[in-house]
Amino acid sequence: MPGLFIDVRVSDAAAKDPELAKKLAEACPVDIFEATDSGVVVVEENLDECTLCDLCIEAAPAGAVRVVKLYEKE
Ligand code: SF4
Repeated sequence: MPGLFIDVRVSDAAAKDPELAKKLAEACPVDIFEATDSGVVVVEENLDECTLCDLCIEAAPAGAVRVVKLYEKE
């Protein structure tokens, strides 16, 4: 994906949690998370809007969400 520098990863267990999905959808100011009945979906076309605010990480249990800077070594 050219021009994409951020990836947001949600752990498999967290991705299936509809309550967490709602929290993430509310937390992210740029709509990267979409809450569905079966859990959270990462909206790929909004990923490049990520401001690295970490609100999603604060809203989720430890380790459930990671914001990966693809231009840095992991
Ligand atoms: S770091 Fe902020 S902008 Fe980026 S996905 Fe998380 S809540 Fe959204």
